Parts: sequence; structure tokens; C-alpha cells
Amino acid sequence: MSIVVKDLSFTYSKGSQFEKKALDGVSITVEDGDFLAIVGHTGSGKSTFLQHLNGLIKLTEGEIKVLDIDLTVRKPDYRKLRFSVGMVFQYPEYQLFDETVAKDVGFGPRNMKLDGEEIDRRVREVVSLVGLDYDEIAEKSPFELSGGQKRRVAIAGVLAMRPQILVLDEPTAGLDPLGKREIMKLVLKLKESMCPTVIMVTHDMDIVAAYATRAAVFQSGKIVFDGKPYELFAKDDLKEYGLDVPAAVGIANELRKVGFDIPKEAITPEAIVDYLTGKRGEND
Ligand code: ADP
Repeated sequence: MSIVVKDLSFTYSKGSQFEKKALDGVSITVEDGDFLAIVGHTGSGKSTFLQHLNGLIKLTEGEIKVLDIDLTVRKPDYRKLRFSVGMVFQYPEYQLFDETVAKDVGFGPRNMKLDGEEIDRRVREVVSLVGLDYDEIAEKSPFELSGGQKRRVAIAGVLAMRPQILVLDEPTAGLDPLGKREIMKLVLKLKESMCPTVIMVTHDMDIVAAYATRAAVFQSGKIVFDGKPYELFAKDDLKEYGLDVPAAVGIANELRKVGFDIPKEAITPEAIVDYLTGKRGEND
């Protein structure tokens, strides 16, 4: 198991007039190899939850275990936690700061006190892993790059610490459809090659349908649904959660009305086409 969270609660500005309960008894277990999508309204506690996973917010109520790091002990190993859980924030490119791409990507490994050769090896490895040409961009200023390249460099900086768990907060925010597909292709590649467990906040239900193996819905600081994406999209109270169905599920629902018996597991365009053309089950 990658992550076990039990009865996690968190209140901002406790005891002041601005007191705000952001998490209220959250329990969830994330297995190795999960691609967990976290969805829910703005203000439902998603970001507060994510920040607990790498120690940016210190645990105050409840229990969290990440890999072999227990956060309930008196002095948790927050340093190890930060290197084990790679956090890609919203618009990560805004956090680029160093003079060159190579220096920026090497920031994490330098913090880990790795030697120069190892830092260089890792920087080369992750720059190419995110689909960029090291020789071409290593000595450039990150600010000279295109938007897409900047985002990749920022992700490379997180990967340079070789995290086992990758956490992304809306990695496709602000991208056009092509840019979204490219970033999601990259996330899948990273999941296969470096970080087997991925947790991703997204508002895009098409992305949940296409990529997630599991979905958790946050509402007012609680998890109100935890299960497979197709189970989520088959629920009647989806609107109550503030969620839409993915485009493909909308089409499947219409097809059902006119007599097609589309299985509820078919939540992507490809799965629906496979069903309609009789190929269902071939790739299962
Ligand atoms: P989400 O990521 O789902 O948008 P957040 O975790 O950011 O939700 O916020 C959960 C709740 O906590 C919201 O009511 C938000 O206003 C409040 N909150 C978030 N950050 C702070 C903060 N730094 N101080 C006080 N309240 C906060």
C-alpha cells in the first residue's frame, strides 16, 4: 500500500475568528499502481488533503502513513517524505526560478546533497524523460522556453528527486486540447517508468474517464465517493457533487435511451465504439 489515511481532519486558523474546517474525517487507502483522480468543488478540501501527503501541512488530527513513513509519530521523517512524494502544483512553471534549466531541475537533487555527477546524471535523465532535448535547453534560461516546455521543465524538477508517488494538482489547467493530451501522455509515461502511483486533482471528467483507475469525490472536507470511475459516472447524484458526466458517457446515455445496451463500464469514446462494432472484450 502506498498511502493509508485514517480520520484525517484539519482546521485552518484554529481558535481564531477565521477558523475554517477544511478536512473532516477523511479516510482513504491508495494502493501501489493506482491512478487516483481527486475531484470535487473548489473549496472542498482537495488541496489541503494533497498538502498533507508531502508534509507541507503538518498532520494535526488523524493518521497518515505514506510508504514506510509514519506521520503519526512524534518526529516524522518529513525530509524523506518530501523526496518520496513528488508534488506538481497548479501552473508549476510559475515556480521556475534558476538561471538555467539544468540548475533549476537540479535544485531538488542538490537539496538531497547528492554529488555533482549524480545530480548531472539525474538532470539529464529527467529532462529527456519529459520529452525535451538536454543539449538544446540545458543552458537556456527557463524563461526563454515556450509554455509547454516550461511546464515540462517544472515537472522534470520534481522527478529529479525520483519520487515513488507522483501528485499532480490540475496538470492540464490552462492548456488547449492538444496540450492536455500531451501532458496526459507524459503522466502515463512517468507512471510506467518512474512513479507507479499517481494522484491527480482534476476538474476534467474526460480525463478521469480516460486515465484514472479510481476516483475520490471531495465535498465539504469529506470523501463522499471512492470507487471506479464508471461507478461514479453511473451514479444519480453526480450533479449533487457538482460533477458532469464525461462526453462519452453522455453519448452512451443517449444511445441507451434509443435501445442500445451500452455497458456501464464503457466510459470512453474508444470503449463505446468497440462495443458498437462488436469488438467489446477483445482488449480486456
Ligand atoms: P480545494 O483544493 O478543493 O479547492 P482547499 O483545500 O483549497 O479546497 O480549501 C478547503 C477549505 O479551506 C476552503 O473553505 C478554503 O477556503 C479553506 N482554506 C484553504 N486554504 C486556507 C488557508 N490558507 N487559510 C484559511 N482557509 C483556507
